[in-house]
Amino acid sequence: MSEVEKAQTAAPGGDTIFGKIIRGEIPTKFIHEDDQCVAFSDISPQAPVHFLVIPRKPIDMIENAGDEDEQLLGHLLLVARKVAKEQGLDKGYRLVVNNGQEGAQSVYHLHIHVMGGRQMKWPPG
Ligand code: AMP
Repeated sequence: MSEVEKAQTAAPGGDTIFGKIIRGEIPTKFIHEDDQCVAFSDISPQAPVHFLVIPRKPIDMIENAGDEDEQLLGHLLLVARKVAKEQGLDKGYRLVVNNGQEGAQSVYHLHIHVMGGRQMKWPPG
């Protein structure tokens, strides 16, 4: 099933595979972890470097983040930048947050995609 097909059937609510990753139920190599978030490589990379930054707090989608999450959301962006640098993405990279069905979100635990290592195109599909 493609990511878009997955997004057609995915819906918010309940536990997700990322919840299992955060709790250590699915062994995953973290390339960053702190008290607020973790980062790990995407299992289906769309670029030579493709990792995800996810909050430990189970926010299902950016649409449902609250005013109280302002500091956390800023932290996720700064971690994305820090890990991108550590991964050698010194010529640029792209951050993506898919939101909801038409945004092609397939996992309902907020995550920032960080992709780099090749020339990105615009507009995206
Ligand atoms: P999205 O379509 O924005 O919800 O992105 C979900 C992403 O999670 C996709 O890029 C998947 O390849 C990725 N993904 C799904 N399961 C795993 C997993 N077990 N480990 C790492 N990445 C995953």
